Amino acid sequence: MPWRVLDESYGLPLVALAFGLLVGSFLNVVVHRLPRGESVIRPRSRCPACRRTIAAWENVPLLSYLWLRGRCRGCGARISARYPAVEVFTGLLFAAIAFRYGPSAMTLVWLAFAAALVAAALIDFEHRIIPDEISLGGLLVGLLAVPAVRVLEGTTPQLAYGAAFAGALLGGGILWLVGFAHARVSVLLGRTFEHWPEPGASYPRPGELDYWTWFPGMGFGDVKLFAMIGAFLGPRGALETLIAASLAGLALGLVWIALRRRADVPFGFGPAIAAGALLVLLSPYRLFLI
Ligand SMILES: [Zn+2]
Repeated sequence: MPWRVLDESYGLPLVALAFGLLVGSFLNVVVHRLPRGESVIRPRSRCPACRRTIAAWENVPLLSYLWLRGRCRGCGARISARYPAVEVFTGLLFAAIAFRYGPSAMTLVWLAFAAALVAAALIDFEHRIIPDEISLGGLLVGLLAVPAVRVLEGTTPQLAYGAAFAGALLGGGILWLVGFAHARVSVLLGRTFEHWPEPGASYPRPGELDYWTWFPGMGFGDVKLFAMIGAFLGPRGALETLIAASLAGLALGLVWIALRRRADVPFGFGPAIAAGALLVLLSPYRLFLI
């Protein structure tokens, strides 16, 4: 019997799938606690309804949700389907990355990159912020650790570090320019947004920091996230992500309008940017590192 599952090319993605389910379970904790300033390590998870501490066997990714039929064992409160959905999505994402990049040190780098993007997208969707722990922490990893791994795999240091720094500058720079230009055009046209400017306040002036960093419809967190993406994917990958993110943003916006029938899209760029970067990462062509 041809047992293809144990074939060499499927073994690694299967391991990555299991690993992704576990990481997805951890991302659920990160997404819930990081914006609230809580530790992502302690204490153990509790049922939000009855505060009962969740035992380890009730916390097995996906399986516990199915076994408990989506309800708390203590009080019977419904557990949001979002938790297993995030676990399954992360698992499939990890499997796809392992399939695309094979057994290499860079595959581990891409798994960490993808996990950071998933967390950033979910937190931005829910809270309209992207924590610096993810964007700036990821930028630091992208500028220092990623080129080091590339050098270990045979890339020259000039190319590896050059691509990371050029990508971060280009990625962050382009998105900053988009936000800055949008702000200046909005002032020219006299447009106002819900919190831009704040009620009773005037538009920021060139002498104020806000003039350079506070834009309508887009947070500076998006700029930092895009700088991180540029560090990981290089300048060409940053440009490709910009295109992919625009398309992903359009698609997400249309889905949102179809679901809620509201045109004023209430989520930021973050989810679209993360989706664009993941599309570029999984693209079957070797596009970046230039
Ligand atoms: Zn409960």
